[in-house]
Amino acid sequence: MSSKHVIIVGGGLAGPALAIALARQSIRSTILERHASVQDIGGVIMLAPNAMCVMDKTLGLSDQLRKVGTSFDAINIWLERGGGLSHVGGFSTLFHERSSISIGRPVLHQTLMDECEKLKDKINIRFSSRLRSINEGPEGVEAILEDGHKISGDILIGADGIGSKVRQYVLGETIDPTYSGIFMTGMILPKSEISLPPSMSLPVFSYTRHGTFLIFDMGDGNVQWVTSFEAKERDRKTGWAEYVQSGQAVKDVKLKYGDLRMDPIKSMVDKLSTEHVRFWAPYLMPPLERWHTDRVCMIGDAAHAIPPSAGQGAAQAFEDIGLLSRLLGKAVAENSHPDFGPIFERFEKLRRPRIDQVRTMTVRAEATRRETSNGLMWWLKGTGTRAVFWLLGKNGYLSNEDFLGYDVNALPL
Ligand SMILES: Cc1cc2nc3c(=O)[nH]c(=O)nc-3n(C[C@H](O)[C@H](O)[C@H](O)COP(=O)(O)OP(=O)(O)OC[C@H]3O[C@@H](n4cnc5c(N)ncnc54)[C@H](O)[C@@H]3O)c2cc1C
Repeated sequence: MSSKHVIIVGGGLAGPALAIALARQSIRSTILERHASVQDIGGVIMLAPNAMCVMDKTLGLSDQLRKVGTSFDAINIWLERGGGLSHVGGFSTLFHERSSISIGRPVLHQTLMDECEKLKDKINIRFSSRLRSINEGPEGVEAILEDGHKISGDILIGADGIGSKVRQYVLGETIDPTYSGIFMTGMILPKSEISLPPSMSLPVFSYTRHGTFLIFDMGDGNVQWVTSFEAKERDRKTGWAEYVQSGQAVKDVKLKYGDLRMDPIKSMVDKLSTEHVRFWAPYLMPPLERWHTDRVCMIGDAAHAIPPSAGQGAAQAFEDIGLLSRLLGKAVAENSHPDFGPIFERFEKLRRPRIDQVRTMTVRAEATRRETSNGLMWWLKGTGTRAVFWLLGKNGYLSNEDFLGYDVNALPL
């Protein structure tokens, strides 16, 4: 085992995944997570073929995830008052025989944490450990926690999400992410409680006047629906939770979708309650000046949070891990005292063009999710959407191999 020790700040999705990838290369790590335990937050996550590539080649977890998630090969596209339009997909034939999976964020998170537990000789997880500051020197780096404890390592990786403290350290200033303007909410309910039209198979993505509606099979007898609609910005730390807990979010969803007759959407909205609602307000991180110093580097949402409109938020964190773990593994195997600054430089150089591509696709996808309250505009949008899917045919934009078929492991180091 290498004598190197990596401090990972953040035990969300990216932190544990990076720790597993490093452990597979015999590199030790300590994960610092501010919460006292794994949080049951977020809704369903789609792991597209590019994310499954990392799960397979870097983490060796794809078979396990397919057992707890639901594999699918295409997304069915519906239009309010238009029925089924098309399906986009054929993932497994297009992308190295890798279908996508839909999986609850908490299930994915727990699977990663369980794997860390199996690798506990190389991975140390410290809950209730909130990073306060960082000391960096020529010989190593030190994480100072809120409770005063100090953890030493050779490098520190910031996987501390959208409100990253590590980002503040690397950039020397606070950069706030931009609210996407779209609020996401939904609920999980037993599949037996909804009646799907015979021609509707899951997952389904439906355009409606008010926003978009997605329904996923969770693979455990439940379905999760998620709607995204325009909502005014609220305080990132407390405002969204207050919006939901006060019951206003549920009222707004019911008011917005109250005139929609299309089933199963109507019956699912009718069942929505504040007690069972799951929610998430996505933010976009503007391109940052840099992602690293000599011994500190950011990955995932800390470096480049992207709303999920193109299903790529978490996938981009996993691509980071596919590349960074290879770069670090190679450097440590070749040199017992590697110079980490150039490794982080290479990581950032290889990742930036990909992140820019995904950010552009995401912003484009987001534009189609906006509300269209004007009747004429909705008719034009419906006709345009119908025409686009007719022209694109069965595999649609997904046949863009560069986007969802991207294999970060194929990048030359
Ligand atoms: C509440 C929530 C719900 C989400 N729901 C969905 C969803 O339904 N579908 C979807 O596609 N994507 C969802 N996402 C986004 C997706 O999870 C992220 O894109 C992905 O997790 C990126 O991983 P990350 O590890 O970079 O960030 P995160 O998963 O956000 O993890 C960051 C971690 O760092 C910890 N942390 C922060 N500051 C400190 C500190 N100072 N010290 C120690 N620890 C710290 C946090 O507690 C957190 O555990 C959600 C994100 C959040 C935050």
